[in-house]
Amino acid sequence: MPVRPDDLSNVITRRGALAALALLGIAGCGGSVAATTSTPHWDYNAEGPDHWADLDRGYATCRAGHAQSPIDLDSPTELHPSDHIEIDYRSISSVKLLNNGHTIQAAVPADSGNRIVVDGTAFTLTQFHFHLPSEHTVDGHDTAMELHFVHTASSGRLAVLAVLLHAQPDATPLTPILTATPNRIGLTRTVSAVDPREYLPTDLAQFRYQGSLTTPPCTEGVEWIVLRHPAPVAIPDVDNYRALFPHSNRPTQPRNGRPVVLAGPN
Ligand SMILES: [Zn+2]
Repeated sequence: MPVRPDDLSNVITRRGALAALALLGIAGCGGSVAATTSTPHWDYNAEGPDHWADLDRGYATCRAGHAQSPIDLDSPTELHPSDHIEIDYRSISSVKLLNNGHTIQAAVPADSGNRIVVDGTAFTLTQFHFHLPSEHTVDGHDTAMELHFVHTASSGRLAVLAVLLHAQPDATPLTPILTATPNRIGLTRTVSAVDPREYLPTDLAQFRYQGSLTTPPCTEGVEWIVLRHPAPVAIPDVDNYRALFPHSNRPTQPRNGRPVVLAGPN
């Protein structure tokens, strides 16, 4: 079935749209699947995080894994000031926003030049998306939303830079993205002149740990970098996003003795 990402407006049913997205190989938090496989449906409600492992054998890691994300991060943690990652972000001429039924995902062109360097390995920014409320918590506290910048190394490894978003009446940096959110599953919209640096807080202190995708198939081996300090998001933008996705956060998972270090700022 030929499906053009820019012309799904005639997809009428939710089931149809989800099937189309499965064919396109569009997954949730950082995941991607082969274009020819179908992705079993999952959500944050009846088929929510407690049931993901029951929905498909390929989702078994969501229950059986021992290094799952998100987690709660404690402020007084091991300090490794020099272990910060390098964030090499620049303006992107245009990104394509997609409502994939789980989140608003912004596809970043492969040649945008945006990357992070983690322990000497370069990871290229491929997409970013949102969760509401935040998935990671700091000392047990969540924030209004969380932004995930998803990066891929040439080896295929994933690294996610997470920014906690704190709701403020007068915040504007994310407004161009969040006011342009496609309001139906499968719809896309293009936004020009996007600079991811504007979405970062001034202080780039960062928690680092080894985790997983926070959506099925919950694959482990993901490098997580969670900025300690939140960045602002406008309250009307949060309200607008909540109207589309009332909640889209996986609960925090057991840490199971994994080290978390606090690095930077750089
Ligand atoms: Zn995510």
